[in-house]
Amino acid sequence: MPIYSSRQQNLAEQMSEEPVSMSNWKDWRWQLKNSIQRLETFENLLGIRFQEKERKKIDLTLKRFPLSITPYYLSLIDTSDYKNDPVYLQAFPSPAELEIGKNDMVDPLAEDKDSPAKGITHRYPDRVLFHVSNVCSMYCRHCTRKRKVGDVDFIPDQNQIREGLDYIRNNPVIRDVLLSGGDPLMLPDHYLDWILTELRQIEHVEIIRIGSRMPVVLPYRINDDLVKMLQKHQPVWLNTHFNHPREITASSRQALRLLADGGIPLGNQSVLLAGVNDCPRIMRSLVHKLVENRVRPYYLYQCDLSEGLSHFRTPVGKGVEIMESLIGHTSGFSVPTYVIDAPGGGGKIPLTPNYLISLSTNKVVLRNYEGVITTYQEPEKYESNFCDRKCDECHLQLKLEDADEYCSTGIERLLADYDKTISLTPIDNDRFERRNND
Ligand SMILES: *Cc1c(COP(=O)(O)O)cnc(C)c1O
Repeated sequence: MPIYSSRQQNLAEQMSEEPVSMSNWKDWRWQLKNSIQRLETFENLLGIRFQEKERKKIDLTLKRFPLSITPYYLSLIDTSDYKNDPVYLQAFPSPAELEIGKNDMVDPLAEDKDSPAKGITHRYPDRVLFHVSNVCSMYCRHCTRKRKVGDVDFIPDQNQIREGLDYIRNNPVIRDVLLSGGDPLMLPDHYLDWILTELRQIEHVEIIRIGSRMPVVLPYRINDDLVKMLQKHQPVWLNTHFNHPREITASSRQALRLLADGGIPLGNQSVLLAGVNDCPRIMRSLVHKLVENRVRPYYLYQCDLSEGLSHFRTPVGKGVEIMESLIGHTSGFSVPTYVIDAPGGGGKIPLTPNYLISLSTNKVVLRNYEGVITTYQEPEKYESNFCDRKCDECHLQLKLEDADEYCSTGIERLLADYDKTISLTPIDNDRFERRNND
């Protein structure tokens, strides 16, 4: 398949008075400059025409949630059945976005609340999200940060980035920094290089991750220069966002190959979207194509409760059904973890079908993917260790400095032998409030 298809050639010719060469088309800046943001342009390029009533509704939607799509991503739309096309559905506004459900939330993940410094979301003990860009090359209709899309005030300048860097520098618990946004790869190489250099000078930052949809919507952004720059700051991991097998094209394969050959480990985070990929066969085909291109499926997200996404939401049962169709049926590393990002900021909660049927002190009863019910015999002898966290005296050899700095939280803490906590209680528990009043 040629990287520059006749479809793309046609589009390019329509877009510009001047001749568009293949090297124009593959220049990511050309793609950005020629991003489609107006309804008329979209119609003209695809040769489709919405009815007047529909256009009015779409215009209203655009005022609230703007449109932006790269010529490359647009070229993937199958115009013969565009209303059901997965690329169209992810890129083109639907009037349904204005229907705010009664359970929708502006910031369901409480990212703004869990932000101790500009651009930082610090939710988990050892890692942070660092929003280094609020711009994207394509505005995903299902964006969880929809409230911020197109918001120019939010583009962080160098001083804001410095605040985030200071926060990370001053918090030695942070060993993992996720560059997020927007899309961090919208930044010019030299700017990203600067951020990565600063981060690398912080001793406790062990790994850096980049979350970017560029391999999907603007694969030409991934070029030799970028990969060379990223390599200076290893270990750097990159997570991207393919939602449908049709997004895997010659150009995106090439982008993934450059990254993988450059030694950047790749992961994928999909969102389960009604009408796009809520189908076990589609998801199976997607994960197979991903691993073929050395991308490890990482998360499958339940669509969250952000405003304007209700038409994309599926029941949780659909996600569990998809997991049931993957686990055991295909290679273990092709199976993502299905998660709900907890409303209110609880973080990602994994969901899997149940495989544990029952247990006694001697036996565990399990079922497999085929429905076979089986038993596992517990060991007759197991010397249970009482863990007092005196790792120096333990026969299990950890022998690492700092080993005792670790402090457990949550359910892990309830299980710990060395901790006297016997229950976790919500702060507004009525029963405890009565006790306090006594
Ligand atoms: C998803 C997320 C992370 C990273 O979580 P992992 O499970 O380690 O990939 C970190 N911080 C925030 C706020 C997140 O939403």
